[in-house]
Amino acid sequence: CGIIGVLGNHEVSPLLVESLKRLEYRGYDSAGIATVNNGKLDRRRAVGKLWNLSDLLVHEPLAGKSGIGHTRWATHGAATEGNAHPHRSGPVAVVHNGIIENFRELRAELAEAGITPETQTDTETVALLTRMFMDRGMDARAAAVETLGKLEGAFALLWLFDGEDDLMIAARKGSPLAIGHGDGEMFVGSDAIALAPMTDRITYLEEGDYAFITRAGAEIFDAAGRRANRDEQRIDLGQ
Ligand code: GLU
Repeated sequence: CGIIGVLGNHEVSPLLVESLKRLEYRGYDSAGIATVNNGKLDRRRAVGKLWNLSDLLVHEPLAGKSGIGHTRWATHGAATEGNAHPHRSGPVAVVHNGIIENFRELRAELAEAGITPETQTDTETVALLTRMFMDRGMDARAAAVETLGKLEGAFALLWLFDGEDDLMIAARKGSPLAIGHGDGEMFVGSDAIALAPMTDRITYLEEGDYAFITRAGAEIFDAAGRRANRDEQRIDLGQ
């Protein structure tokens, strides 16, 4: 329901939770974050209010300057910790807004490859497919794009990878995503309000776009895989 991503220069866990609070107005039933710390991907998730996630992070902190976060409004699979985002498979973590309409077909394909889901969500298929393509030798970027080609539905997606401190991959199809530009830092949000404390320099992805984001900037591609130029705007959120 709400998505946030940060490639930052400071510890990101507090920033991720604070940004998710700014997305609370959209409603949610659970929340989670994942970070990469010295190349190592890890995550924390909790059912209910963001307080539960904050409390968990006090007892089990999550270090790292790169991270993604999500507030979930369950559509497929109950509101449990196991079904909360980020979803993970091997080196891949992903957060998702919307619905992967063909996830049952994708699960059948995964089953044929001997891959079994651990959750009831449509979202987990995205992590499983991306991991499958990486296991077959693709790098993170190629695997995410290959996965995107298989997905039907309306969604916004954000990937983070083990071993990659300086990469997020974002995709938009039917559900908005904004990229925020900082000073040697980059941000992603399901709306610009989530990014307001960090930056007012925003690039909106257009329908079908995907983006490779590093601290140096964002490379954006259109649905046909062509490099696309999307304007950077200054937005006034009346802060
Ligand atoms: N369909 C996904 C799920 O049920 C994402 C829901 C959302 O947009 O929060 O986990």
